[in-house]
Amino acid sequence: MPDSPTQTAPRAAAPVPRLEIRNLRRQFDGVAVVDDVSLRVMPGQVTCLLGPSGCGKSTTLRMIAGVEMQDTGEIWVDGSLICDTVFRVPPERRAIGLMFQDFALFPHLSVAENVAFGLSGPREARRARVEELLGRVGLRRFIDAYPHSLSGGEQQRVALARALAPRPRIMLMDEPFSGLDNRLRDDIRDQTLEILKQEDAAVLLVTHEPDEAMRMADEIALMRAGRIVQQGAPYNIYNAPKDRDAVAFFSDIN
Ligand code: ADP
Ligand code: MG
Repeated sequence: MPDSPTQTAPRAAAPVPRLEIRNLRRQFDGVAVVDDVSLRVMPGQVTCLLGPSGCGKSTTLRMIAGVEMQDTGEIWVDGSLICDTVFRVPPERRAIGLMFQDFALFPHLSVAENVAFGLSGPREARRARVEELLGRVGLRRFIDAYPHSLSGGEQQRVALARALAPRPRIMLMDEPFSGLDNRLRDDIRDQTLEILKQEDAAVLLVTHEPDEAMRMADEIALMRAGRIVQQGAPYNIYNAPKDRDAVAFFSDIN
């Protein structure tokens, strides 16, 4: 059949979120600490889950990582369901990298062995990946060193290299800079962003510090008492906080 003259040109497909969570909920002792949270992280972007201590940020990340089970809700990666209440891809098959405040390198393993920890495949390929990443974080010269001989900032960069080594689709970062010296923090934030972009990982970054979110995020989801109360570009949230609590939260800490 000939095309009808009214037929419209095919539209470009909408981009698929790298990570999407839908209506995630988790309660402890009858209290919903994560209460109907929905969120998307697009490829190449840093989404920041920002909120005060105790509002449910880490619990949300743990469910996405698969180390905590939600009561209800769904988790999708690249358009595929990886977890709901009946179906569950185990944590090690989720293509998710993790980085926490306590970056916990293995003290008895060298820097190279730490970074190679999650890698499989031929020895030469693993070694090449370790060298590539250590070069990227500027620590190639420490390849045979042990964690205790490195500074806090250097250990943090090794932890970043370790998390990125298996080429995760998504990086979950839970207050990854809060253990660091103030003087170093901004530089390390900028370097980390640069490296995450080179590695093509979409990032969900958890923080309670508005200035960190403003510096790093493409999108901010403001969380309070288990719920996302506002979501948008950093500039918009900062300039048009939705309510008095949001204003107070931004002004308290700065
Ligand atoms: P945040 O990371 O934003 O500081 P969390 O997700 O760690 O918040 O915690 C949210 C709330 O859930 C807190 O009140 C915390 O005490 C509670 N909570 C977290 N994990 C558990 C658990 N395993 N059992 C009981 N309560 C928990
Ligand atoms: Mg936390």
